[in-house]
Amino acid sequence: MDCLFCKIVTGDVPAKIVREGARTLAFRDINPQAPTHVLVIPKDHHVSVAELAAADPELLAEMLREAHEVAVTDGIADTGYRVVFNTGPQAGQTVFHTHAHVLGGRGLNWPPG
Ligand code: 5GP
Ligand code: ZN
Repeated sequence: MDCLFCKIVTGDVPAKIVREGARTLAFRDINPQAPTHVLVIPKDHHVSVAELAAADPELLAEMLREAHEVAVTDGIADTGYRVVFNTGPQAGQTVFHTHAHVLGGRGLNWPPG
């Protein structure tokens, strides 16, 4: 399967790894939108958060625990951060291997654009 994030899991595509768990990987977004912009992914291929939630809810919970640990690592757990799952074309999902964006380190507008 030709999946960019599966290739980051195998090491075929390089990434700046922030944290590695047994079943998850966190790495810096190549085009950061905030001082902290990290993607947390399951190592297993799931196309969307909805499909992951149905297939393996504990793995989704693990991703969210890892998202918080990324915020702790980057020193933004107390100032605040946002976790975003773009799902589907109108939300701007471009990589169909589910990923949580962890954003923070600056004031974040609400609602997002
Ligand atoms: P989406 O738009 O699907 O929610 O998010 C995909 C994210 O993956 C984008 O923020 C984009 O910058 C990031 N991205 C795309 N290609 C690469 C890559 O090769 N390496 C890394 N680290 N991030 C990538
Ligand atoms: Zn994949």
